[in-house]
Amino acid sequence: MSTIAQQFGMQEALHALGIKEINDGTSTGSNSFSSGPIIESYSPVDGQLIGKVKTTTAADYEKVMQSATEAFKFFRAMPAPQRGEIVRQFGNKLRELKEPLGKLVSYEMGKSLQEGYGEVQEMIDICDFAVGLSRQLNGQTIPSERPGHVMREQWHSIGVVGIISAFNFPVAVWSWNTALAWICGDVCVWKGSEKAPICTIACQNIIAEVLKANNLPEGISCIVNGDYTVGEMITNDTRIPLVSATGSTRMGRIVGAKVAERFGKSLLELGGNNAIIITPTADLKVVVPGAVFGAVGTAGQRCTSTRRLIIHESVYDKVRDAIVGAYGQLTIGNPLDQKNHIGPLIDTDAVNTYLAAIEKAKAEGGKVLVEGGVLSGEGYESGCYVKPAIIEAENHFEIVQHETFAPILYLMKYEGEVENAIDLQNGVAQGLSSAIMTNSMKEAEKFLSFAGSDCGIANVNIGTSGAEIGGAFGGEKETGGGRESGSDAWKVYMRRQTNTVNYSDQLPLAQGIKFDL
Ligand code: NAD
Repeated sequence: MSTIAQQFGMQEALHALGIKEINDGTSTGSNSFSSGPIIESYSPVDGQLIGKVKTTTAADYEKVMQSATEAFKFFRAMPAPQRGEIVRQFGNKLRELKEPLGKLVSYEMGKSLQEGYGEVQEMIDICDFAVGLSRQLNGQTIPSERPGHVMREQWHSIGVVGIISAFNFPVAVWSWNTALAWICGDVCVWKGSEKAPICTIACQNIIAEVLKANNLPEGISCIVNGDYTVGEMITNDTRIPLVSATGSTRMGRIVGAKVAERFGKSLLELGGNNAIIITPTADLKVVVPGAVFGAVGTAGQRCTSTRRLIIHESVYDKVRDAIVGAYGQLTIGNPLDQKNHIGPLIDTDAVNTYLAAIEKAKAEGGKVLVEGGVLSGEGYESGCYVKPAIIEAENHFEIVQHETFAPILYLMKYEGEVENAIDLQNGVAQGLSSAIMTNSMKEAEKFLSFAGSDCGIANVNIGTSGAEIGGAFGGEKETGGGRESGSDAWKVYMRRQTNTVNYSDQLPLAQGIKFDL
């Protein structure tokens, strides 16, 4: 075990989560049936091995699906508020285990400990939300045009929900999906990221305990382990009516097409290219922390990370200098140590992508304001720590048009009215999160109007990242169009049925059609 792991109590954290060995433990997690080749998980924090996980073979997958489909028959018949009670107990377990799970998220994924705890808090929040919702899966009664008839709409469980998730939110994204799917009466088969497989096992251990304590079938919550080839088993499986896939646009393009081909439904949560518009009346006290946290939080590895600042020319110099100044105060290092603002990237491939993006931006004419680079030496042995960079760029640069999952912030100017800034903000293929910093009511309302931001999330005087679970989360265009978490996102996890009941002695037809015999 590494010094960092020892110092921050990783062994104890893993024990609390039911993962027995830190260095060479092979864990399949409960109900995963995995027997395939092993994947090893190394921490980007210190480059040390955390654990090993057996992957899921095609034969294992069949066993998982058998268990899930059997469990579904049982679970859909359980009253929704009773399913809510299971989710309530799961939320309570998460409260008990917030510290170890948050630590594991930080150590395996590399985000700051605060953000690791925040991720677990989001899981708790969605459980609370889902518990209340379990008594509100309401349909509506609709007036019928025919005398003696009544129409209504019902929501039924959809079946086995496949969940494919990304490395950057290795536990929360699963819970957003699964807490809602469970209260809806669905069962879930989850493939977590192959880059954070111990987090998947930890979550599975937590829910398995709750299911066991309630004498419920294990198949209500299943995991499969491995890379995209295991993801493809879910994508291609006609027994899975809904696939919720979170990850890159590249992945979503493949998964969306495959699921559509077999007439399945998909909920796609893909890449973003998020901007903050900074207008002449913006308050620097709000702008600086909002923009800096948005750009460097989670080392720029949030789907909602701020990638572009679109600044009015009249305040450009002032804003640029304030942001560049704030970057000078950032500390980079072990994310478990709360004095650091920024942890590592997920792996050295991500570091190479980051370096290539900076070179590309320079080659396209970008001017570097804050130099990036890879950190080396004591504390940076994993090779995954990079310096956040700021580059002056144009929106049309090819590299600016793409999401680079790293802390690179592009600054650009706009002239004239806010509409020009909105055009730039919308002038990318992605449509996840957006923000405007302004004290002008007119500018704010224009930004939120039908002619304003084309993103799924549009904020005023806060940054682009840090959504709450109460709202529906997701984005438009190449972000995939899916919505999960709050509001009425639960409807995706159910099938809608329209019923018409005739309680008269006649059979009048709709639209006044006559059919006399
Ligand atoms: P990724 O696309 O490489 O992988 C995501 C998941 O998809 C992994 O579990 C992977 O194994 C699986 N996968 C990849 N190709 C597949 C295929 N062909 N078939 C089936 N499964 C496949 O993404 P990543 O590097 O883990 O995560 C970063 C990306 O995720 C970024 O683009 C980020 O913006 C996005 N993301 C989006 C949201 C959102 O809510 N919009 C949230 C988190 C992350």
